[in-house]
Amino acid sequence: MRKKFIIGNWKMYGSKASVKALLTTLKSSSVPPSVNVNRIVCPPYVFLAETQTLLEGSQIAWAAQNMAAEREGAYTGEISAAMLREFGCRYVLLGHSERRTYYGETDDLIAKKFKLATESGLTPILCIGETLKQRQSEQTEAVLQRQLDKAMALGESVFQQGILAYEPVWAIGTGVSASAEQAQKVHQFLRQHIALHYSDLAQKLPILYGGSVKPDNAKALFQMPDIDGGLIGGASLHAHDFLQIYGDCVSITN
Ligand code: PEP
Repeated sequence: MRKKFIIGNWKMYGSKASVKALLTTLKSSSVPPSVNVNRIVCPPYVFLAETQTLLEGSQIAWAAQNMAAEREGAYTGEISAAMLREFGCRYVLLGHSERRTYYGETDDLIAKKFKLATESGLTPILCIGETLKQRQSEQTEAVLQRQLDKAMALGESVFQQGILAYEPVWAIGTGVSASAEQAQKVHQFLRQHIALHYSDLAQKLPILYGGSVKPDNAKALFQMPDIDGGLIGGASLHAHDFLQIYGDCVSITN
């Protein structure tokens, strides 16, 4: 059985007070934890120290939303993989569509970060997804293939250290999720495409779905055979919603 993941991407939201309140509620939740479903939160960088203090020793892991493509140096405003490790991060989101769209991150740059993350002891969570225009012009598979291929070209031993998140851009933050069937179709395609290069890995790699996952659609999505959990944006800022989504994943998995 593949490991499942429920990951909360807090984006650029929160304050010291709200982070403390949210993490305290998540930690004290009565939702029974499952060894098969990993819970991870991705706060903004400046809250990583507080997150580490609050979550150390708990069943919830924490991760960064991005990292620099260089190990260290004169890169004003950047945060390195080694710094993230020092603050207890074990995972890092890479290639989120907001990074691609607003900060011009390319597949080459993201692949460079992917490699550096694995070399630094971080598990990269590679986000890929098509825009509405690309879907409507039937380019979904070509776009996803292109976004995947640079990371796959790093070689099986590197690529297998990551996690994949399919996040259709048209579903992120819009309230319009892909249907469970639409998402499953893409996840199945992704496994088939990966299998062309790495057949064992295609079955083992966790592939998460992200894009307007909420308590009312999570179960249907997670019931799909190729969907191994979710990357949750807006709903992860509400403890009750995030816990319910986690609970749904656990109930399907156990
Ligand atoms: C995301 O930011 O990765 C995301 C999926 O956001 P939302 O759940 O709000 O669509």
